[in-house]
Amino acid sequence: MISLSQSAHTSIILKLLDAAEHKLADFDVIQTHLKSVLSAQESVQQRQHQAYCSLFTTLMTHLSQQTKLSRPHQQHLELLKLRLSHQPGLAELNEIGNLLTNILTLNQEISTTSTTVRSENQTETAETVQLKQTAPHRDPAPAPLISTRERPPANSEFQVLETKRQHMEQIQRTLSLHLSEVIEQNKALGKALSSEQHSIDNELSILLQGHQSLTEKLENASKFMHIIESEGQDLSDELKKAHTLSLTDELTQLPNRRAFMKRIEDEVSRVQRYEYPLCFALIDLDSFKSINDHYGHSAGDEVLRSFAERALSGFRHHDLASRYGGEEFAIILPNTDTNGALRALEKIKGRTSQCTFQHNGTTYPIPTFSAGIAQYSAGETPASLIERADKALYRAKRMGRNRIETTEVNEHEVISTSTHLKRPHEPEDSSR
Ligand code: GH3
Ligand code: MG
Ligand code: MG
Repeated sequence: MISLSQSAHTSIILKLLDAAEHKLADFDVIQTHLKSVLSAQESVQQRQHQAYCSLFTTLMTHLSQQTKLSRPHQQHLELLKLRLSHQPGLAELNEIGNLLTNILTLNQEISTTSTTVRSENQTETAETVQLKQTAPHRDPAPAPLISTRERPPANSEFQVLETKRQHMEQIQRTLSLHLSEVIEQNKALGKALSSEQHSIDNELSILLQGHQSLTEKLENASKFMHIIESEGQDLSDELKKAHTLSLTDELTQLPNRRAFMKRIEDEVSRVQRYEYPLCFALIDLDSFKSINDHYGHSAGDEVLRSFAERALSGFRHHDLASRYGGEEFAIILPNTDTNGALRALEKIKGRTSQCTFQHNGTTYPIPTFSAGIAQYSAGETPASLIERADKALYRAKRMGRNRIETTEVNEHEVISTSTHLKRPHEPEDSSR
């Protein structure tokens, strides 16, 4: 009797709205439009419902007034009216409609039976009149089931029903019109949603392609960065190597003169601030030239390597033993006074006496050395400190070599502190 497809439409529309909420740019406009459509649909449904209720009530009133119903049917009809007065739902309204149809059908059947009986009775009455005219006495005919006076006038009944039917037709036309409108609007909405879905799909596809291309570019950039990083690391290693090489003497692997100069400046500025003792020593191998002359330049190199590796390695870790040039070595002894420096150099002298070098399968002792020590005097420059040590060394050479000479702090006096140890290959009389 009443289509349920509207609620199905409503459910579909609500689902579509949920699905489209985060995807449509004009979501609010579409939602407002849908609300108005659904509201119109709802009001049409309500009007339809009310129209059916009113129609049923009218029919029942008409039935109860105009039609003779059996007592059970009459009671049934009253019950249905009572149910109608409580604003029944759609399902109940359908049920009431079916019950009403049953009552009408049954009533129609009863009515047909009554009419047949009445017609038979009327025929009998005519015969009876005729008989009455001929016969002096007869028993009275039985009373008809529905009297002629009790029946409603046929024309008026038809007009009322016709009016009701027309009214119903009008309501159905209106409802049909509204429903068609709603269906058309739903179709248009479906098309709009479908087109919006297509455009969203296209945009998503473009975005995905962009994302993929960006990912590839990022991967390439990452690889490129790895290459740069690796090259940077290589470069850094090379630089470290070059830096180390630039500060290292290739022959002895000791810090070279440049490294020494940097360190002596650092130490002097440090000692100026903290005022702890600092000594500097210059060591020069005695008569080294005769090694070259006797055994060759490579033997001289071997002597320098052996002296650096075995003798000079006896200094403490925080001391700095460097190759100052040729067969001269500069030693920085931080936190050490003259006496301490003397003890250190005596220790090195002892180690030197144990050092040897090989030449043509023969082992030879390496030469002795002479040294000059200077303790840092407050306020003096590194150059002054070196110069004082050099003077002490010169004195050691002059005094016969294989000696360690010092200068008194503040007085710059040179004093002799060690004895001369002669080596077999050492020239008898040579000056520095
Ligand atoms: P003194 O006792 O007075 O110091 O005499 P000396 O022979 O040690 O000093 P001199 O200055 O007369 O000679 C130093 C020699 O050292 C001269 C030079 O050829 C040599 N020499 C300098 N550097 C090297 C080097 O790297 N390798 C070798 N084999 N010889 C070198
Ligand atoms: Mg020399
Ligand atoms: Mg020398």
